[in-house]
Amino acid sequence: MRSIKVLHIEPTDVCQAACPLCARETDVDFNKNNKHHLGIESIQQHFTDQAIAQLDKMFMCGNYGDPAAGYYTMDIYKYFRSVNSKITLGMNTNGAVQTTFWWHELGKLFNKPQDYCVFSIDGLEDTNSVYRQNVNWKKLMANAEAFIAAGGSAHWDMLVYKHNQHQVDACQQLAQDLGFRWFRAKVSKRGFTDRLEFPVGWQPSVVKQGPIACHVLKEKSMYIDAQGRVSPCCWLGARQKDFVKDDLKTIKPTWKTDSPNPVCQTTCSSNKSKTSFTNQWQREVELHV
Ligand code: SF4
Ligand code: SF4
Repeated sequence: MRSIKVLHIEPTDVCQAACPLCARETDVDFNKNNKHHLGIESIQQHFTDQAIAQLDKMFMCGNYGDPAAGYYTMDIYKYFRSVNSKITLGMNTNGAVQTTFWWHELGKLFNKPQDYCVFSIDGLEDTNSVYRQNVNWKKLMANAEAFIAAGGSAHWDMLVYKHNQHQVDACQQLAQDLGFRWFRAKVSKRGFTDRLEFPVGWQPSVVKQGPIACHVLKEKSMYIDAQGRVSPCCWLGARQKDFVKDDLKTIKPTWKTDSPNPVCQTTCSSNKSKTSFTNQWQREVELHV
């Protein structure tokens, strides 16, 4: 196995939300009734305690579920911290699963300077659920406040569409008032629909085609999904049928050919060493140091 410094975990493929362009909704091969919850023993089949002890960072996100919905999410974080006291812990969430008690516990656990939780909040109370369907605003706000009150570093990430672009400044202000540390806004790379229109005056999130600058090779990372399968990155694990299991063995040789792996081409084609992933934020403000 490559030397791994960053581990990306999808602890579950369960989510209460129904974002229209999420793989949960768009992948016809994904069955919402087969609910998976990753346990520590499944992670240990690929990563020994020695490997965990050598990590710089472990974060939870994924393609099909919200980490806060995972049965063993808190246990996994605690386990990683017990094996590796210096590890950075992170999470991406819609914020409206679990109780304020759970979020308070997470805030206490995320007590290292670089630990963070990204809340994906695409507007204010009247617009967030246009994309984040089924996300309860009051629950989300209460959970974020509980996490911050316990000492957690919260980041507000916003997808900007035509229907919410007039609220970007107000979202940033609310993030500041609530004690979020960062506010970031970007344009979706997943396309647009009648209800999810491109925002006027914003830039498309695409980098011109150039050499592939592999993100996982650069940060030395790897992905494990809710079923316990490992893949180089979440992008290569974003479709049930095309899940890449052999790390970079079959993928890397395609990069210098005329037909590079299409996922790598879309995600990591670079222009002056910037890719559409590394260059995605059109507003990025540190609110509280
Ligand atoms: S909150 Fe995340 S996992 Fe849940 S439906 Fe939306 S994008 Fe998918
Ligand atoms: S999509 Fe391909 S090039 Fe990009 S990080 Fe994943 S493996 Fe590397």
